[in-house]
Amino acid sequence: MSILLFNTLTKKEEEFQPLKPNKVGIYTCGPTVYWFPHIGNMRAYLCSDLLRRTFEYNNFEVELVINITDVGHLTSDSDEGEDKMIVAMKREGKTAYEIADFYTKTFLKDLNRLNIKPAHYYPKATEHIAEQIKMIRDIERNGFTYQTTDGIYFDTSKLPQYGILSGQKSEEKQAGARVEMKEKRNATDFALWKFSPVGSRREMEWESPWGKGFPGWHIECSAMSIKYLGMPFDVHTGGIDHIPVHHENELAQAIGCCGAYHARFWIHNDFLTVDGGKMSKSLGNLFTIDDLVAKGFEPIAYRYFILGAHYRAKLNFTWSALESSQNALRRLRQIVRDWDSPEIGCAEYEQRFLDAINNDINIPQALAILWEMVGDEKIPTSARARSILKFDSVLGLGLEDYVGKRLEIPEEVLELMRKRDEARAKKDWGESDRLREEIKNRGYKVEDTESGIKIME
Ligand code: AMP
Ligand code: ZN
Repeated sequence: MSILLFNTLTKKEEEFQPLKPNKVGIYTCGPTVYWFPHIGNMRAYLCSDLLRRTFEYNNFEVELVINITDVGHLTSDSDEGEDKMIVAMKREGKTAYEIADFYTKTFLKDLNRLNIKPAHYYPKATEHIAEQIKMIRDIERNGFTYQTTDGIYFDTSKLPQYGILSGQKSEEKQAGARVEMKEKRNATDFALWKFSPVGSRREMEWESPWGKGFPGWHIECSAMSIKYLGMPFDVHTGGIDHIPVHHENELAQAIGCCGAYHARFWIHNDFLTVDGGKMSKSLGNLFTIDDLVAKGFEPIAYRYFILGAHYRAKLNFTWSALESSQNALRRLRQIVRDWDSPEIGCAEYEQRFLDAINNDINIPQALAILWEMVGDEKIPTSARARSILKFDSVLGLGLEDYVGKRLEIPEEVLELMRKRDEARAKKDWGESDRLREEIKNRGYKVEDTESGIKIME
């Protein structure tokens, strides 16, 4: 059994081979905890979850690390601007730690609502300052750094491999202008350590061999991934926006410190767009999971929506597409409720499902195979039930609560149904509609079909 993965580092599909037998270490770049994560961010964690579950389906033991960025991520990628955490402190009048704590909890709640399996570690940048300083010292000792008035920088011109991930050369970036050079030697150079601004006190600052200050954003991921997963480890993930700066710089730091890349496979998800473009606060189209819930959707319907596109394809979010996902999920639950208890399984569909997920995590195809099996009347429902539960260990739709579990309608809802029948017999359509609404408020839907009245969730 082999798993093919598209590796951004080599730009080709490669067969995955673990570094340690049957084990996989995955590092997923986590959130900067200064604001609510939006549904685009959540796509990145859903993709990482689908990857992790695919490995587990193949009997690998996975160790997953998702970091929490609570210092050092500036408002501009070119080491300028304010720390995003400080922007949030000013906005909310709280301490940086209170801000980090609140938005970390929000993030973890969203992971849970989307049925994303918890990581094994959620290391925080502020709790790993010593590891980051040590790494910067090693990079310095190996001759890759220089000092300016505002910090310690990585000299990317000393690294012939720089640009391997994005294919972008330093000169091209320089030609792209808009990069604030100040004392930087090359446009692609980046801060490893920033000095606290003279005369101002920062809540988040630490002593270091170079002076009081705080780490650059990229160093935390190199230092913490190696600390928790070892050097090297198997897989590093993130959204495609991380390729040209954050991950390129992570690679540079790993070579600068340890002489080798820290991760073997680099997996990147493409973007979720809204209205065909980028989400932004100013356009009013930056949605959170709470926004979806406020419109009556289940968070898991968003998970279903994400399953519909390959992780390396752009995906456009619309409310009507989310509605279709919610309806498909309802239909699926309704079908599987009537199935017999799981038994035996269906080998042919299971093989096809495995082939799909092992082919660069082709989840849309896997989902299509699931639906094909659902409609295959030749196979006993008990066998379909067993296989669908297996599939769901990857897809994560929570079907175990539905497969073979008949809908138990509470007595009060049955009573409302009876009253509605009476109203309809008297042709009192107003009362009938009112009762349908009452039933709906209790989480059930009544449908008048040709074969009679149907009730569903
Ligand atoms: P950030 O908190 O900005 O570092 O982003 C967290 C994760 O979300 C990163 O892996 C980003 O690459 C990813 N990301 C940000 N915006 C989107 C988007 N619109 N679609 C998919 N992934 C995204
Ligand atoms: Zn990162």
